[in-house]
Amino acid sequence: MSDETIFTQIVAGEIPSYTVYEDETTYAFLDAHPLAPGHTLVIPKEPYERVNDMPPELAGHVFQTVSKVTEAVEHAVDAPATTIAFNNGEEAGQEVPHVHCHIIPQFSDSTAKPIHTLFPGADIADEEMEAIAEKIRSSQ
Ligand code: 5GP
Repeated sequence: MSDETIFTQIVAGEIPSYTVYEDETTYAFLDAHPLAPGHTLVIPKEPYERVNDMPPELAGHVFQTVSKVTEAVEHAVDAPATTIAFNNGEEAGQEVPHVHCHIIPQFSDSTAKPIHTLFPGADIADEEMEAIAEKIRSSQ
């Protein structure tokens, strides 16, 4: 876990933010460089770096907050849909090493594409799919 991040400073009130939700363990605020009106970040207050670093109970609560705040964001900016995403690790483009879930409103005239367009696609044979699935099952 990082000691302090720009987001722990936001939680502590040392850096101003447009806070939209707070409870004992989670916090949500508007992204400073919004990709759409209402672009919101949901974080655990503790600075775990990646989603899979969080204890399961906290991860579950973060997702509850994501669900609750998403409903409010969609209502607030009259968005019929949202893209909800974590950049989970540096290679995935995570810049702030403190778990954060992006909630990005989407509108009928939005030019943003689904997340599938981020990847070129991978051609994987059935045997390899089964081998990967077995490794994932046995890694839990
Ligand atoms: P990442 O690329 O790590 O998934 O996203 C980090 C996000 O944090 C970016 O969208 C960026 O605009 C946002 N961000 C970075 N610094 C601040 C800040 O000081 N305040 C707020 N509200 N957002 C920030």
